[in-house]
Amino acid sequence: MISVFEMFKIGIGPSSSHTVGPMIAAKRFADEVRDNGQLPQVGRVLVELYGSLALTGIGHGTVDALLNGLEGQTPRDVDPAAILPRAKQLIAGADLQLAGIHPVPFTARTDCLMHRDQALPRHPNGMRCSAFAADGSLLASTVYYSVGGGFVVTEAEFDQAPLTRTPPPYPFTTAAELLGFCRQENKSIAQIVLANECTWQPEQDIRRQLLEIAETMAMCVRRGCKADGILPGPFKVRRRAPGLYTKLYDMLETGRNDVMLWPLVYALAVSEENAAGGRVVTAPTNGAAGIVPAVLQFYCDFHPDPNDAGIVDFLLTAAAIGMLYKRNASISGAEVGCQGEVGVACSMAAGAYCAVLGGTLAQIENAAEIAMEHHLGLTCDPVGGLVQVPCIERNGVAAEKAIKIAQLALLESGEHVVSLDQVIATMYRTGMDMRNSYKETSLAGLAVTIALPDC
Ligand code: SF4
Repeated sequence: MISVFEMFKIGIGPSSSHTVGPMIAAKRFADEVRDNGQLPQVGRVLVELYGSLALTGIGHGTVDALLNGLEGQTPRDVDPAAILPRAKQLIAGADLQLAGIHPVPFTARTDCLMHRDQALPRHPNGMRCSAFAADGSLLASTVYYSVGGGFVVTEAEFDQAPLTRTPPPYPFTTAAELLGFCRQENKSIAQIVLANECTWQPEQDIRRQLLEIAETMAMCVRRGCKADGILPGPFKVRRRAPGLYTKLYDMLETGRNDVMLWPLVYALAVSEENAAGGRVVTAPTNGAAGIVPAVLQFYCDFHPDPNDAGIVDFLLTAAAIGMLYKRNASISGAEVGCQGEVGVACSMAAGAYCAVLGGTLAQIENAAEIAMEHHLGLTCDPVGGLVQVPCIERNGVAAEKAIKIAQLALLESGEHVVSLDQVIATMYRTGMDMRNSYKETSLAGLAVTIALPDC
C-alpha cells in the first residue's frame, strides 16, 4: 500500500521526477557510501543521467538538485534559495562535500554526464551514481529510477516486492475494491484511507501532518499571489498570478467577480512558485502541483463552513484517488505524458472536492473519472524543458475544470458508463501508445514549435 504521505510530499520545484527524485537518489547514494564505511576512500564521484533526465534535466534543475543531494540535502529540508548558489559554486570548481562531510574534487564536465541518446532499460528517468577511490578503482555504483512524484527505486528494487510494512485493514488496489470496502464498512473513502494510515502511525499524528501539508499548500498560494517578477530560464516568462490576483480583488469591489477565476489564479500562483524552484507539495507531482492546492484553497475561501475536518477529508480522498493511478498506471510525464500529471491531479481534486461537498461514493467516482476522461492523450511537451509553458496555465485550467466537474457530478445520480478503473487502464494504455517524443523529452509538440530565444 502507498501512504498518503508518499502522495503528498513537501519538497522543492520545479519537478518531482527531475528535481525531487534526483536529489533523493543522490542523497541515498551518499548515505549508502557513508553507511558502508567507504566515505574516507572516495576520491571521485560520477553521476550519469539518461533518457528524459538527460534531455530536460538542465531546464528542470536536475544537476543542481542532485549535487545538493550528494551533499546530504533533502527536498523537504533544503533551503530552496540555497540550491542554485551552491550548485554554481560546485560547477565553478569547489570541492563536493559528499554526505555533507567528505570533500571530493568535482569537475562538472567529466563528473556529471548527460547521455541524451541513451536510456536505461526500466524507465525513461534513469541515473547512475558511482564512487571511485583515489586510484580509480570502483567502490560503489547504483542505478536509480525517478519514477514520478518524487518516488525513487533502484535497479534491484524494480524486481523486488514493494517495501514491506504492516498490512493495513483495507488493502485496496483498484477503485472497485476501495468502493467495495467503503460500502461493506459503511465508511467514506477518507475514513478507509485514514484507517489504513493508522496502521503505521497514530491518528493525531496523521491529522497534524495533513494539516501541515495543507498549510504548506496555502503558504505556496499566498507567496505565489504576491511574488512578482520573471521566472528563471531563457524565455523570461513573467509571473502572472500577482497581477491577476489584484485584478480579481478590484473586480470584487465593483461587483464583477467571476468566482471561478479564483482557483485558476491560485493554481497559477503555486505553479509559478514551483517553476521558480520554491517550496511546494507534490500533488501528485510538481508539474501538476497547482491543482489540488488551488481547489483546496477554493474550498477554504468559498465553502460556507470550511474546517480542519473537511481539509483532512479532502486530502485523504485526493490521496486515495492518486494511489489508484500510481498503483495501476503512472504519475510520470516521462512514462505516460501529461495525462499522468495534470490529468491525475485534476481527477484527485475533482473527486476530493465532490467528497467535501457531500457527494455519494458513486458521485465521487464519477467526478474522478470524468476529470481523467477529458485529459486522455494529453502530451508532455514542456517548452525549453522548463516546467513553465504549457505547464503553468494547464494547472490553472485543470483546477477550474476539477471544481466544475465535481459540481456536475453532484447534480447527477452518480450513474456512469466508464468506471474509474476503466479510465485509469485506458490512460495507461494511451501512455504506452504515445510516442516517446511527447513524454517529457522536449522533442515534439510545443517544445519544438517554440524556438529558444537568442541569448
Ligand atoms: S507538460 Fe505536464 S507532464 Fe510535462 S512537465 Fe509540464 S506539467 Fe509536467
